[in-house]
Amino acid sequence: MQTQILERMESEVRSYSRSFPVVFTEAKGARLHSEDGKQYIDFLAGAGTLNYGHNHPKIKQALVDYIASDGIVHGLDMWTQAKRDYLEALEEVILKPRGLDYKIYLPGPTGTNAIEAATRLARIATGRRTVVSFTNGFHGVTMGSLAFTGNSKFREATGGITPQGGFFMPFDGYLGEGVDTLDYFEKLLGDKSGGLDFPAAVLLETVQGEGGINPAGIEWLKRLETICRRHEILLIIDDIQAGCGRTGKFFSFEHAGITPDMVTNSKSLSGYGLPFSHVLMRPELDKWKPGQYNGTFRGFNLAFATAAAALREFWSDDTFERDVQRKGRVVEEGFQKIASWLTEMGYPASERGRGLMRGLDVGTGEIADKITEQAFKNGLIIETCGHDGQVIKCLCPLIISDEDLAEGLSILETSTKQVMG
Ligand SMILES: *Cc1c(COP(=O)(O)O)cnc(C)c1O
Repeated sequence: MQTQILERMESEVRSYSRSFPVVFTEAKGARLHSEDGKQYIDFLAGAGTLNYGHNHPKIKQALVDYIASDGIVHGLDMWTQAKRDYLEALEEVILKPRGLDYKIYLPGPTGTNAIEAATRLARIATGRRTVVSFTNGFHGVTMGSLAFTGNSKFREATGGITPQGGFFMPFDGYLGEGVDTLDYFEKLLGDKSGGLDFPAAVLLETVQGEGGINPAGIEWLKRLETICRRHEILLIIDDIQAGCGRTGKFFSFEHAGITPDMVTNSKSLSGYGLPFSHVLMRPELDKWKPGQYNGTFRGFNLAFATAAAALREFWSDDTFERDVQRKGRVVEEGFQKIASWLTEMGYPASERGRGLMRGLDVGTGEIADKITEQAFKNGLIIETCGHDGQVIKCLCPLIISDEDLAEGLSILETSTKQVMG
């Protein structure tokens, strides 16, 4: 494999190619091929951008058809048939059946663009400045979003400028079992000397992805919604990673039966790995003035075409979500088995997650890296997350076949035994 030019020209900031230093050529479903003829099972799926797998045939057809018809490709926010069709699919397939009434804002194509837009709008709509986020939360790495992202590695990489406008609260479980961290939030809200400026919004992931696959409890989420309503604080759910079916429902907050004021989606939203994000918001919150928050790529037409196809293909009934929940239980069992083995060997480990967003916590980043490096040698692509990188994270495509899923889990188990036995 010829990698010299890649190593020589690409900035040191490159990251995933360090864990997986091969040149990939093609991919289908949950399998990837590299130039040296090796095959890999993909439990990373473009960091959760490929919930429907690599190159899904129906979504690909929609893309090819759109290109073949000379459809508009650029991403300026003009009206196109592709945009209209996406909005129709979103309303018919996703919003109406869930009783959700949202307008849509189309920001730049990445997740952090959606977070910047949602939090700015929360400030404009409420006239308040502070946005509350949570320990171990991850919401992107541009200047605005960094105010809500806990990870010091990213926060330190601003060249000395301090991210502003955020206030961190302890996430569910942060202070150990038996402590409801929302007691602290409620107390601060009622305390004029607590140091918390009355917030515009609360921003959170219902299952923290980069932070270590930490699912917030259902009761905790309901109580948070109640607190937000009582104090007229906006509730923003960042569903960039946990959304689009990852947890077994289209929106991760459906499990708790809560209704956010705003929702951000990206990662798997295009269904094909194309850059695409949106903000959903209650219509009353749409206080934007025309062109007030602008950009050149605000709504990528190719992504509209693939996203609409994905929504219609997978979300017209509940067959797909039930299948995701079933596969989630398969991963849960597989991870539990590995966790028990590790614990018996003297390395305390545990598993957690919701749906097909699952983590195997092996205690330290060092152990997690050993296992995932060995797994890569054995043909499995899987990454780590958490404050120390101590959680091995399953983000396999939701469409993965039972055979590939079993094989991936088996590779992980074998790899664990090879390096920790
Ligand atoms: C990935 C991610 C983001 C940031 O998305 P980018 O496209 O990398 O800017 C924000 N929030 C969550 C929950 C994410 O997982």
